[in-house]
Amino acid sequence: MAYAYDDQNVFAKILRGEIPNDTVMETEHSLAFRDIQPQAPVHVLVIPKGPYVSFDHFAQEASEAEIVDYVRTVGEVCRMEGVEEQGFRLISNAGRDGVQEVPHLHVHVLAGRPLGRMLARAE
Ligand code: AMP
Repeated sequence: MAYAYDDQNVFAKILRGEIPNDTVMETEHSLAFRDIQPQAPVHVLVIPKGPYVSFDHFAQEASEAEIVDYVRTVGEVCRMEGVEEQGFRLISNAGRDGVQEVPHLHVHVLAGRPLGRMLARAE
């Protein structure tokens, strides 16, 4: 499918410096910042700086340099937050069924307490 990127989404505004963020780390191609409504003691969002809607979009169209930078940034956030030993969860919601609220690729890094089972059984 062809992805259309909406540059008015909140993470695009963060990347343009139009709204503030609580930065954890920044690299050439990626930004990591704290979620405004944390769902665990550690809740960091990692985004690429490029205009990608979802993980699939990113995997299809990002350069190898962007992909390497992004994956290494996720790992570095885990080390910086000190969660590699106790464990962590990565989540990347996409589209309608994934209940993605912000249409700019982000990985949630969740940690700092037992996180329960991966999915609650719904309906
Ligand atoms: P998702 O449902 O995966 O699209 O999640 C979007 C996440 O972005 C939610 O966890 C929100 O709390 C978070 N969020 C929305 N606006 C901001 C913001 N300005 N700064 C940090 N996190 C935000």
